[in-house]
Amino acid sequence: MKIKIDQERCVGCGRCTEMCPSVFKLSEEGKAIVINERIDECEDEPRGEECAVVSDVVKKAADECIVEAIDIDMEIE
Ligand code: SF4
Repeated sequence: MKIKIDQERCVGCGRCTEMCPSVFKLSEEGKAIVINERIDECEDEPRGEECAVVSDVVKKAADECIVEAIDIDMEIE
């Protein structure tokens, strides 16, 4: 999975970082950045049912991003 965040679009609402802090983080500029793309190796405590499969919570974060700034490509390892 490849995760990209459009820095121009991101408004720094923090929704994705709240949903999956193992993958998303707000930068000093207040924009979301990806801190971990090896999501299969996530060792954090599951934060909800959909979090049991990390790719599911990343997809949900992309769906819920209010400005559609998160682009995910499942084909890329
Ligand atoms: S949910 Fe979207 S707008 Fe909000 S911080 Fe994440 S990428 Fe940025």
